[in-house]
Amino acid sequence: MIIVLKKGATVEQVEEVSTRLTEEGLKVHLSEGVEKTIMGAIGDRMRIEALDLEALPWVEKVVPIMAPYKLVSREFHPADSIIRIGEHEIGGSNVHVMAGPCAVESRAQILETAHAVREAGATFLRGGAFKPRTSPYSFQGLEEEGLRYLAEARAETGLLVITEVIDAQDVSLVADYSDVLQIGARNMQNFILLKAVAKCGKPVLLKRGPSATLEEWMMAAEYIMDGGNYQVMFCERGIRTFESYTRNTLDLSMVPALHALSHLPVIVDPSHGTGRWQLVHPMAKAALAAGADGLIVEVHPHPEKAVSDGKQSLTPETFQGMMADLARLTLALDRKLGE
Ligand code: PEP
Ligand code: MN
Repeated sequence: MIIVLKKGATVEQVEEVSTRLTEEGLKVHLSEGVEKTIMGAIGDRMRIEALDLEALPWVEKVVPIMAPYKLVSREFHPADSIIRIGEHEIGGSNVHVMAGPCAVESRAQILETAHAVREAGATFLRGGAFKPRTSPYSFQGLEEEGLRYLAEARAETGLLVITEVIDAQDVSLVADYSDVLQIGARNMQNFILLKAVAKCGKPVLLKRGPSATLEEWMMAAEYIMDGGNYQVMFCERGIRTFESYTRNTLDLSMVPALHALSHLPVIVDPSHGTGRWQLVHPMAKAALAAGADGLIVEVHPHPEKAVSDGKQSLTPETFQGMMADLARLTLALDRKLGE
């Protein structure tokens, strides 16, 4: 909220408003202009409204300027946030591609995929060791064994590892083996999990819930930042709509919308966003054209044998072809693919 004081308000009057706000537990920022004094109050909007400051004769108006999210907003941090992970920077001029299978299935599978995607120019290896599956009868992931294979692939290839954490009690285990923690779409509003990753000290990729609005998504990121972790990236992965040809509807309008409202980087997942491997390459190009800071893409050495999401997985060959195309596109966009 912004509180605009009338011209000529005295120091005592400013002080009185400030005291009322701080007594309610609100943070106050003072801006003394030539004409008027403006006060910025950060905290629960309801509490500011309850103070009824406009009743004071020296208060001109009380204007709600801020959306419910604060730390994620551009108002809080006008410049783009750059997230440094190892030697890489996400959110700057380089565009990063995170690639790998939906699930870590075996040591051989993850090592083969890691080498292939590294060769093609990916900088991060993805792969789920803990899998949130719609059916309890589907493969649930190799858990810690899968994390060990990911760490081994990192040691062999130099790729950084991104993997999903689905339970607050596993956060430190997953953080021990990985460079970025992924919060899956189904867990976007698992507030206990969000608070747990806020304390883990590792960057977080926050996927959009399948029916989440932009504001709900930003509020979920606010939980992580409010908990002290400022290394947050958004990931658009498609939303549930009436269309059934595609698995989800990839809402690329969120890329420029998030960039306008927030300083945090935006990653796009064209694999879950479409559910069809044939659509991944064109939508990856569209995502970069819309301003995405990176992509997360499913790649499997044998998609027809994949235990999950084979239909939307690229082969190492189709991935390689896409990466060559994206390298050209990023140059036209004044950015660079990879390191
Ligand atoms: C995944 O990345 O494999 C995954 C489960 O994604 P989402 O949470 O977007 O469905
Ligand atoms: Mn998947």
